[in-house]
Amino acid sequence: MENSPIDSFPDSTPTAGNERPQPDREGTALTNFIRQMIDEDLKAGKNDGRVHTRFPPEPNGYLHIGHAKSICLNFGIAADYNGMCNLRFDDTDPSKEEVEYVDSIKQNVRWLGFDWADREYYASDYFEQLYAYAVQLIKAGKAYVDSLSAKEIRQYRGTLTEPGRNSPYRDRSVAENLNLFERMRAGEFADGEHVLRAKIDMASPNIVLRDPTLYRIKKVAHYRTGARWCIYPMYDFTHCLSDSIERITHSLCTLEFEINRALYDWVLDNLEVECHPQQIEFARLNLSHTVLSKRKLIQLVEKGHVKGWNDPRMPTISGLQRRGYTPESIRNFCERIGVAKADSMVDIALLEYCIREDLNLRAPRVMGVLRPLRVVIDNYPPDQVEELEAINNPEDPSTGTRKVPFSRELYIEKDDFMEDPPKKFFRLAPGREVRLRYAYFIKCVKVVKDPQSGEVTALHCTYDPATRGGSAPDGRKVKATLHWVSAPHALAAEVRLYDHLFIKENPNEVEEGRDFTHYLNPHSLEILKDCRVEPSLAGTAPGRRYQFERLGYFCVDAVDSFPAKPVFNRTVTLRDTWAKIQKARPK
Ligand code: ATP
Ligand code: MG
Repeated sequence: MENSPIDSFPDSTPTAGNERPQPDREGTALTNFIRQMIDEDLKAGKNDGRVHTRFPPEPNGYLHIGHAKSICLNFGIAADYNGMCNLRFDDTDPSKEEVEYVDSIKQNVRWLGFDWADREYYASDYFEQLYAYAVQLIKAGKAYVDSLSAKEIRQYRGTLTEPGRNSPYRDRSVAENLNLFERMRAGEFADGEHVLRAKIDMASPNIVLRDPTLYRIKKVAHYRTGARWCIYPMYDFTHCLSDSIERITHSLCTLEFEINRALYDWVLDNLEVECHPQQIEFARLNLSHTVLSKRKLIQLVEKGHVKGWNDPRMPTISGLQRRGYTPESIRNFCERIGVAKADSMVDIALLEYCIREDLNLRAPRVMGVLRPLRVVIDNYPPDQVEELEAINNPEDPSTGTRKVPFSRELYIEKDDFMEDPPKKFFRLAPGREVRLRYAYFIKCVKVVKDPQSGEVTALHCTYDPATRGGSAPDGRKVKATLHWVSAPHALAAEVRLYDHLFIKENPNEVEEGRDFTHYLNPHSLEILKDCRVEPSLAGTAPGRRYQFERLGYFCVDAVDSFPAKPVFNRTVTLRDTWAKIQKARPK
């Protein structure tokens, strides 16, 4: 896995992945090798000029940002070619699938901004048709019921270097196969007693073609078909036929299915089908400092490493949504990473860049103090309150200004003060003057400490009334501008700060004897219960996004927030680590 250097792109449009996206004919959307293949198909008059894709999740977990790549690709292509994209649930494994997952997937795809109209399909709706296709294969002598155990089947399969051996049951008559298959369906046999296999070639250099299993017995109720079936079709049999039934033209899937393509084509070539879609593989998204595998994500949830699928640290769409990501930022990210034919690792800093860029344009600025330190302005009249004018969003003048109350008692950020500052610390210190944003210059005249612990508990300052608005008429300068809130007016809030879920760049690469959870970041969540935010945030609604000046972008938590005590998730800090990474890259 490696990143390719991306230095030739202007700073404002970073991209990642190993294929450089290029503007297409219209110069709007970005093209890629899949679009080029479709262009050629259209030119050749294939599929009567139709473009029809599908997004085929298995409802066995929540979708993650890798799925977003597939969603954007499939729905994006359909939209750009005036085609259609189906949402299809690939639900052939009843032991892992649930309605909760179906519902979350639909919500996620819609939230990302895509619409499948009435084309919501389920592989489980095709079970009867798939059964009929299996019977067709048996009748043609191209499938047989095998009675070897799973272990024996593995032993007979051979290896990459050795051919497999034929099962002793391989030459059962069509009549016997039909009879056994019917009885498998009728529930006469136990799990594992028989399977239905395609009769292809046990000596094929492609192991997938060594008589793959098409059906297995599984006496487990299905979340949609209940107890109607006790045999279930395998992925390789189901997927190509579902695509064919839905008249898909281009079946886009991730690279690990490349070796399965021969089987995809074999099934469709050996059955009477009207439509034979083309399978095209692309590289899956890997993102640094996280895992993108439902199997691993489910472990994080079940073992309590995170608080549910929508924990804001999770790379799930639901987690990103709750964290404060916008659908636009995720779509933008997916466009920037591009679509390539080789695996790569994308730095999570690019995802963060995308949300920062989006929120910079639209998030209103407010002031909030995460770790409050009390400041008393000794020379400010005790009963006076001023309403100072603050800019809502310098990137968008149409959003205007708001009033922020200023009074004798304020809170500033604890770490904006140091009693004994080192050389490079320019913020508040004893005897030093700084600017309060939108307000006045203040100077620290006294430090109050807890007599026991020595901790600084309050500061006494004076203000210069002539500096209202933030500049001194005598032209004197200060080196820092601090954010603040008025103590009697501020609203109490809880703030949750997040860091990468894993400390290791690629937690999928595990050292011997370790589990990927070994690399979890113990500091991925920090909860600050005693924060103060400006009063304009009273009554804010779940999902609203803000920039807290100097601190980052925050979003009102959709689960735990109450009007009287809002909870904010920090979506991302203001530090652009992506730009730094780009600069550090060798030219
Ligand atoms: P996981 O490996 O996370 O369990 P999956 O591939 O088993 O994922 P599916 O529900 O089968 O999950 O995936 C639906 C679609 O999303 C498939 O077409 C799959 O190829 C695609 N997809 C899954 N993960 C990624 C990823 N990381 N990057 C791009 N596409 C992905
Ligand atoms: Mg899968």
